[in-house]
Amino acid sequence: MTRPTAQNQDVDSMIGRAVLQDVPRCEARAASGPPGPSTIEKAPLIELTQPMGQASCSGPSEVAAREGLDVFEQAKQLFFNYAEPLCLERRYPGRDIHIRLTTPDRSIGFRLTLQRDDGRLQAYQAYRVQFNDDRGPYKGGIRFHPSVDLAQMTALAFWMYLKTAVVDIPFGGAKGGVAADYAALSLAEKERLTKRYALVLANDIGAEKDIPGPDLGTGEREMGWILDEWRMICGIYRRGVVTGKPAGLGGSQGRREATARGVFHMVIEGLKDTGLDIAGRTVAIQGFGNVGANTARLLHEAGAVVVAVSDQDRAWFNRHGLDIPALCDQTRSGRLPERFAEAEPIRRDDLLLSNVDILIPAALENALTAENAPDIRAGLIVEAANGPTTPQAVEILSDRGVLVIPDILANAGGVTVSYFEWVQNRQEFYWPADEVNDRLRRVMTAAYRQVASLAETEKVTLREAAYRIAIERVAEAAARRGAQ
Ligand code: NAD
Repeated sequence: MTRPTAQNQDVDSMIGRAVLQDVPRCEARAASGPPGPSTIEKAPLIELTQPMGQASCSGPSEVAAREGLDVFEQAKQLFFNYAEPLCLERRYPGRDIHIRLTTPDRSIGFRLTLQRDDGRLQAYQAYRVQFNDDRGPYKGGIRFHPSVDLAQMTALAFWMYLKTAVVDIPFGGAKGGVAADYAALSLAEKERLTKRYALVLANDIGAEKDIPGPDLGTGEREMGWILDEWRMICGIYRRGVVTGKPAGLGGSQGRREATARGVFHMVIEGLKDTGLDIAGRTVAIQGFGNVGANTARLLHEAGAVVVAVSDQDRAWFNRHGLDIPALCDQTRSGRLPERFAEAEPIRRDDLLLSNVDILIPAALENALTAENAPDIRAGLIVEAANGPTTPQAVEILSDRGVLVIPDILANAGGVTVSYFEWVQNRQEFYWPADEVNDRLRRVMTAAYRQVASLAETEKVTLREAAYRIAIERVAEAAARRGAQ
């Protein structure tokens, strides 16, 4: 199938010739078969010297830099700490196993040019990092946010392959994104930017290659657009090319709130281990987007008292509990209402220091740092966001005896239901919401129990236990694949 003429004109006006020439034809690739994992070459990484688009905010990478390392270097530091007792080099000699597990297979960096509604052309930096596919096709979300940079994408792709391994689903890890103030674009501009991103990557993604899903700034709508663009370019209606799609396009029941549902199960399991019940427990949640708001709703319905929530601009607090259904009703695209009668405003980052039982960071990386970790009062932290805790904060919280359920386990509900969606797309047979939710609960609680049991026997933190389980699974898969 070729693109309709009108769209061809659109494409020609919006993308440089060099980029178009660089995009190989899917049909040609399909005829000769997809490249096997062993033939993947490191793509040259295009790094721009000038910042582009409107990506000018102070991002998590800068927070990480204040603690001495970029966010990916921090991620590797934790990995090396946790991999050391596993003696991988001795058990898998002559395989450079540490290098293989800490170096991305491919890092694709590229420029996107978007035609704004007023006719201006605006350039943005975009990425897709395919980190590891030893256990299955690359899998990972797409983030449209000003903070996107290569270190962030690489760290997120790295955590992604560890995450799929912790919950034992047959995927690897990837991540992609565009450094853009996506929220400020019009709907038509959003669609053009998303489809442009899919166009450039059309030959690098696919149901058996690399399967994008939603992340910060993106959701069902963007996944529907990517499915459509990929189908137009490649001429194949293959729903499994993306997950997190609208139900009418092959999305799974329960995917929208899957990450939050997984976080919810982790709260329940974590409380069980401390001998507590959910009813009456106080909660603070940083970030009120897909994950934060749905987690708040599920916890509120279960009898928890959500006393504080924040978004990128503000935070609302009520010591007796916020009216979560009303807040959800009045929240638009992750932005809390500017006025909310039932609550008092607090400084956004003070939320992290609230006197609560449970703290749920559900926004960006590096929220919990060496600066604020000593003052955090919650006894249980469930990391709904990816990488919300810097390595220094990890140590401080561990020394203080705070129970932390790490991101690679806590927020794995999303990718787990993405896996269910991919399975349903392959079968073209769809499960009811109850079945999806029940399977999710079983996967998440089994993964938690496995991690908690290793933590108990080895006297290590849940984070170290989760990393050990993930690293063991991926190292074994890598070794079993032979020479590559
Ligand atoms: P989202 O875009 O729907 O919501 C993000 C929320 O965070 C918004 O309310 C935003 O205003 C808020 N925010 C941004 N900066 C903030 C700050 N400095 N302080 C307080 N709030 C801030 O994104 P999402 O899909 O809910 O993702 C949230 C986190 O969960 C991200 O770390 C993401 O990587 C992770 N995650 C998401 C999924 C998923 O399925 N969506 C899966 C796994 C992990």
